[in-house]
Amino acid sequence: MLNTLHSDVTLPRRISVLGATGSIGVSTLDVLQQAGGRERFDVVALTGMGNAALLAEQAKAIGARIAVTADEANLGELTERLAGSGIQAAAGRQALIDAASEPADWVMAGIVGLAGLAPTMAAARAGATVALANKECMVSAGDLFLRETAKAGVTVVPVDSEHSAIHQCLSAEPDHTVERVIITASGGPFRTFTRDAMEGVTPDQAAGHPKWSMGRKISIDSASMFNKGLEMIEARHLFHLAPAQIEVVVHPQSIVHSAVSFTDGSMIAQLGMPDMRTPIAYALAHPSRIAVNVERLDLIKAGRLEFEAPDEARFPALRLAREAMAHGRAAGAVLNGAKEVALEAFMARRIGFLAMADIVERVMAQLAHLPAPQTLDDVHAADAEARARASAIIA
Ligand code: NAD
Ligand code: MG
Repeated sequence: MLNTLHSDVTLPRRISVLGATGSIGVSTLDVLQQAGGRERFDVVALTGMGNAALLAEQAKAIGARIAVTADEANLGELTERLAGSGIQAAAGRQALIDAASEPADWVMAGIVGLAGLAPTMAAARAGATVALANKECMVSAGDLFLRETAKAGVTVVPVDSEHSAIHQCLSAEPDHTVERVIITASGGPFRTFTRDAMEGVTPDQAAGHPKWSMGRKISIDSASMFNKGLEMIEARHLFHLAPAQIEVVVHPQSIVHSAVSFTDGSMIAQLGMPDMRTPIAYALAHPSRIAVNVERLDLIKAGRLEFEAPDEARFPALRLAREAMAHGRAAGAVLNGAKEVALEAFMARRIGFLAMADIVERVMAQLAHLPAPQTLDDVHAADAEARARASAIIA
C-alpha cells in the first residue's frame, strides 16, 4: 500500500527546491523520490549554500537542470562534481534569484532566514505555487509577500507543520465560521526548567529538540519559543486572523499539530507523527493527497495526549510576538532581525539563553517608529537596522 504509484493524482510537473541541502530540502527530495522521482518530475533548480557535495549528489539523483550554491566560494567544487552530468552549475545571490525565476509549477521555499525572501518572491512572480517552509517571508514581510503572491495569482501552501495542520482543518470551511486557531508547541527541551536553570543552558542543550529533527537554528528557536512566536505571526498573515484569535497551547507529545475551533463549538485538529514529510507531501499534492512512507500514528501507542498553558514569564518570546502583531508596521521584520543576531550570539556563546528575548525586546522598543515595509528593500532596511541595534547592545 505504501508504494502505490500516484498515477491518479495530478501533481505539479516542473519543480524547484530552494534550500535543497537543508533539513526541509532533504525531506522534500525524499518525498519527490517517493512520488516518482525523475520519471514523474522535471526538476528545474536545486539550491544550497555550504554543502556542494550533497547538492551535486541530489541534483544528479533527481536529474535537475540547474544547481546553484549561494556561496560563490563553492562554485569550483560544485562545477567539478557536476562535470559530465549536463547539469548547469551556478553560484551567488543573483544566480539564486535567476534560478528561482525559471518557470516552474511548484517551488519549495526551504531556505532558512531572511535570505529566503527574495528568491521565494522571485519564484512566486514567475508563477510557481509556493510551498512555504521559510516562515521569515511571512514574519518579516507578510503583507508585502501576500500582496505580491496575489498579484502574481499564485497559491501559497504552508509547509510549517502547524500551518499545514490549520490549512487542513480549514479546508472547505467558510472563513467567518472560524473562532480561534490553536497552535500547538512541544515546549522544547526546557519546558520543565525553572527560569534560573534556563539561565545557564548551552547551545547544544538548546538544539536538542525532544520531538522534531530540524535545522540547528529552528531547533534553538523552538527551545526559546521564538519559533512559536514567529509561527503566531505567520498564522496571522496566512489565515487573515486577528491576533486575539491565535492561541498557543503546549502539547509535549507533538502529535496534535494544531487545531481550529468554529462558531458552533466544534474543534477540528490534525494529528500525525512528527515528520515533515507529511506536510511536504500535502503541500505537493494539495488539494489531493499522495501516499508517503512515514511512520503511521498509532493512537493506542501514543496513549496520552497532554496540553498545558505556556508560561510567558519563562518564554517571553510569545509576549513579544503578540506585541509585534499589535504594533504592526515593521515590528515583524524588527523582531526577526534582532532575534537572528541574538540567536547567533547565543550560538557563539557570547550571550546567555535568556538574554535573547531581552535584546529583542529592547530593539523592538528602539525601532517602534519604523513604518510598514512597502518593498523588498524596505524589509531588508528594517532587518539591517534591527541587526545593527541588536549587535550594538551585545557589543
Ligand atoms: P537548514 O539550516 O537545515 O537548511 C537551510 C537551507 O538553506 C540549506 O539548504 C542552506 O544551504 C540554505 N541556506 C542557508 N543560508 C542561506 C543563504 N544565506 N542563502 C541561500 N541559501 C541559504 O534549515 P531548515 O530546518 O531546513 O529550515 C528551512 C526553513 O524552513 C526555515 O525558515 C525554518 O524556519 C523552516 N521550517 C523548518 C522546519 C524543519 O523541520 N526543519 C519546520 C518548519 C519550518
Ligand atoms: Mg512549526
